[in-house]
Amino acid sequence: MVSPLQAGFRVTGVKGNAGGNSAPGAGACFASKLVQEKLVRLGIVDEFDLALHLPLRYEDETHLYPINDAPENKTVQVEGVIIHSEILYRPRRQLVCQVKDGSGILFMRFLNFYGSQVKAYSVGTRVRLLGDVRPGFFGAEMIHPKCRIVRECEPLADALTPVYPATAGLSSETIRKLIRQTLDSSDRGYLSEILPDTILRRYRLKNFRDSIFFLHQPLPDASAILLQERTHPAWRRIKFDELLAQQLSMRLHYRRRRDRSAPALTHENKLTNTLLESLPFRLTSGQKQAFGEISRDLAAAHPMQRLLQGDVGSGKTVVATLAVLQAIENNYQAALMTPTEILAEQHYRKLSGWLEPLFASLGVTIAWLSGSQKKKQRETMLASIADGSAMLAIGTHALFQEQVEFNRLGLAIIDEQHRFGVHQRLALRMKGAKADGSTAPHQLMMSATPIPRTLSMSYYADLDVSVIAGLPPGRTRVLTKLVADTRRDEVTARIREACHGGKQAYWVCPLIEESEALQLKTALETHETLNRTFPDLKIGLVHGRLPPQEKSTVMESFQQGEIQLLVATTVIEVGVDVPNASLMVIEHAERMGLSQLHQLRGRVGRGAGASTCILLYQKPLSATARERLKIIFEHTDGFEIAREDLRLRGPGEFLGARQSGVPLLRFADLEQDEDLLEAARIVAEELLRDHPEAATSHLQRWLGRESEYLRV
Ligand code: ADP
Ligand code: MG
Repeated sequence: MVSPLQAGFRVTGVKGNAGGNSAPGAGACFASKLVQEKLVRLGIVDEFDLALHLPLRYEDETHLYPINDAPENKTVQVEGVIIHSEILYRPRRQLVCQVKDGSGILFMRFLNFYGSQVKAYSVGTRVRLLGDVRPGFFGAEMIHPKCRIVRECEPLADALTPVYPATAGLSSETIRKLIRQTLDSSDRGYLSEILPDTILRRYRLKNFRDSIFFLHQPLPDASAILLQERTHPAWRRIKFDELLAQQLSMRLHYRRRRDRSAPALTHENKLTNTLLESLPFRLTSGQKQAFGEISRDLAAAHPMQRLLQGDVGSGKTVVATLAVLQAIENNYQAALMTPTEILAEQHYRKLSGWLEPLFASLGVTIAWLSGSQKKKQRETMLASIADGSAMLAIGTHALFQEQVEFNRLGLAIIDEQHRFGVHQRLALRMKGAKADGSTAPHQLMMSATPIPRTLSMSYYADLDVSVIAGLPPGRTRVLTKLVADTRRDEVTARIREACHGGKQAYWVCPLIEESEALQLKTALETHETLNRTFPDLKIGLVHGRLPPQEKSTVMESFQQGEIQLLVATTVIEVGVDVPNASLMVIEHAERMGLSQLHQLRGRVGRGAGASTCILLYQKPLSATARERLKIIFEHTDGFEIAREDLRLRGPGEFLGARQSGVPLLRFADLEQDEDLLEAARIVAEELLRDHPEAATSHLQRWLGRESEYLRV
């Protein structure tokens, strides 16, 4: 799509109003450069964008209420003649006018006003006011109404007046005119109907152009509630089309993967079986099923892109390890990337324990890469990855840096994928890909932050998803307690009890977003205080600023049970697995997000014994903080918590800025419009199969400029 900005954005006349220049002939003109720039700020570069700049709400100027009958607390329009006007100085400077109609008198008050208004609103002037009527000191009043001087019997509006999202220097009023004139121009090809009749009828979808026209100018008898709640058929059509564009692009992306090739890593049952036999536990049926799905994908000659979801503690690591072995059985390397060094190191230790006996006989090793490694060690690791003697590389994002060259990368695994951005995920995948993109390694992403169904159907629709249902047997539900900060003594007693009983505990220091230095200080102080409180316990401290060597020593001692109480910042949020730890204390829990609390709580309850999580909070609590704590207290299931989280924060925040790379939905609301999402999914398939030209036009219309992201 040529950017109409380059082509000269043709919007019909806004003469005199926003400084539009008159174009010769036809009565059409180009929006001035200034207006164009402002429109761009609103994301509007062509007629279609303008048509999609839909009203935030509507004002009803189609009806006049007699002053005495005007309902309170509702925006209404009245008309009358000004019978008195004065500037008062108490309690503050304000312009007060009395407006009278046949039924009564209304006061209108302006706390901010211009001299020109004082002049204009003189006695005898007829005005039309739009605003909320409230009981005032002198009688019914409107504060800062929209006030227009009118002639007697001036006609009323015949449609509801749309109010648009505006920007500095471009009022809703100007935008309204621009949109009107654009819609009124004769060339409306950009709004033509794309969808086949059969589909429109099946889903009772209103015509597209009619929907756009209607939303910009609804009839006065249109149901205001449906419009406001955006459930009116016209709204539903727009939302449907938006969702359809998203589904189409995801499906195309999915199909394109089929055109690329990947090594077929068949399931040989050799190394995988040896590992399964050596484990001290048996896979749960959820794990078996997930691995079955992954195994099948790996054996195909197209790159897998699968998301493995499973609640905290469901045992994703062992499933990933089986996938690693399937790659190695086929003489391909695997890489496992984690968001934190602590986690990379933990995986390294755990997988070394599981795999070294197997690898020794094969003469291969596991490499380990981190940003803070010594140069010498790093070089050795890089060499072993490059010559293929290391068949598995574990590390942080250091894994996809330039110097890292794999010999034959067949599988890239990303743990805690929600902590990475799309670009980082792509970079790792590119490691094993041919430059032309024709061949790519398989990719497995893992996440314990479950993605609610609606989100996985929309934003993640280009991925295949496996879910590990259930937790390994013998886990007991973590008991969650909410304790006010003032009752710390109880917490102290709890810790003593747990540690003396041979268990271990975490103490998580508050998150201080504004300052890392302050967070560090808090952690050091907490460590000191706890050392004084529990002279008989061995207490460790881990935080982000600790040199990597020390970090790993502390984590290792905690793992080994030498440290009984671990004071930590949120660096331990994801992945850390110490089954003997059964008590978690989280300070200032009210500052943390839901998924963070769920992840932290997931550090306990990993062994067979009963576990407790104490959420210390400080009053006063904000309404959201209260709600978050209530949710985490009531729910243990990660999916339910995620659903609540999505409801509280909306998809933009939920997906996080890091996930950006996917345009967010502007109109559709995944919760409210789940049925439309379902329909869009079906229609997307159908269009691609039966009406490919319609699919192309629809994508072009909606994602023309953003379609680059489809390549990611
Ligand atoms: P997560 O899914 O959160 O990454 P982990 O892979 O760290 O969970 O597994 C949590 C703990 O459960 C680990 O100690 C792991 O060894 C253990 N585990 C995994 N699968 C099973 C199983 N089937 N039975 C018993 N314990 C298991
Ligand atoms: Mg994990």
